[in-house]
Amino acid sequence: MKRIAVLTSGGDAPGMNAAIRSVVRASVYYQIEIYGVYRGYRGLIDGDIEPLYASSVADIIHKGGTFLKSARSEAFKEPKFRKQAADHLKAKGIDGLVVIGGDGSFIGAEKISEEGISTVAIPGTIDNDLAYTDESIGFDTSVNTVLDSISKIRDTSTSHEKPTIVEVMGRHCGDIALYSGIAGGAGTIIIPEEKTTTNEIIAKLNKDRQRGKLHHLILLAEGVQSAASLQEELKKQTGISARISVLGFIQRGGDPTSRDRILASRMGVKAVELLMDGHSNQAVGIHNNQVYHLPIQEALAITKPFDQEMYDLTKILSV
Ligand code: ADP
Repeated sequence: MKRIAVLTSGGDAPGMNAAIRSVVRASVYYQIEIYGVYRGYRGLIDGDIEPLYASSVADIIHKGGTFLKSARSEAFKEPKFRKQAADHLKAKGIDGLVVIGGDGSFIGAEKISEEGISTVAIPGTIDNDLAYTDESIGFDTSVNTVLDSISKIRDTSTSHEKPTIVEVMGRHCGDIALYSGIAGGAGTIIIPEEKTTTNEIIAKLNKDRQRGKLHHLILLAEGVQSAASLQEELKKQTGISARISVLGFIQRGGDPTSRDRILASRMGVKAVELLMDGHSNQAVGIHNNQVYHLPIQEALAITKPFDQEMYDLTKILSV
């Protein structure tokens, strides 16, 4: 393998820059020519591909976002556009591609390998919804951003003695809510993996009120319902007017934590080494602090077991 390319795709995540840097520096180290594709698969279809050098990735390890930009491309789901994308790579003599993104991007990486391009996928998503890897790049930073926000929300919630519902991202995965909720001492955590009834929430609020605690932090994963609808339900059934805070895109930005930078650095090098060793269609992951790889299809088929022990912590700690 003499030439490879790297792109970031789908929702961006803090640490993607560190991953690109790692792919570029490892390529230079192993004397492979490295190219950057701008705007994910959309840029690949358009042939928006430029050479990168060790200096191209100087001063980015600490920055959120992705300097290669990210995008979504419906066209890439059509074989004729994937062929067009592969032809752009082949025209430049590129036969390997590193894709940094979430599950949708992984499927794209698998599909373009059918066009004769060797692919390796690196998990970059704050949602932490890829079950084959203990953690994805961006998750730790996102949890810390939420934690910082809820510490501030807690101050004002305590002053005004009001419950606050904090809605966080994660799509169908409750990890951001669960991890930041535990670290932030939330009274209630509501996630898609475990049903919580409104009656249970009310019982918990009432219990706290009886012991004189009027503020109460409810961490709500977006995959369950919106903060506004839960606020309305609580108002209707109890008369309690909870405040709501929808954290939104701040969860996807910011300087990556050391944990995410290190994870990204380890995975980027692994991806280049896999391509050098002739592998294709592989997903890089981490398990028990070991970086490993498995076929993308197998990686995507693994479903996440629910971490009951983690979930039960809240019940015990907010007694
Ligand atoms: P994420 O990678 O964060 O999960 P998406 O699900 O939006 O984000 O996927 C990112 C991109 O991956 C899509 O815009 C599309 O270009 C590509 N992709 C997703 N699903 C497929 C598919 N079935 N076939 C080919 N490409 C796909």
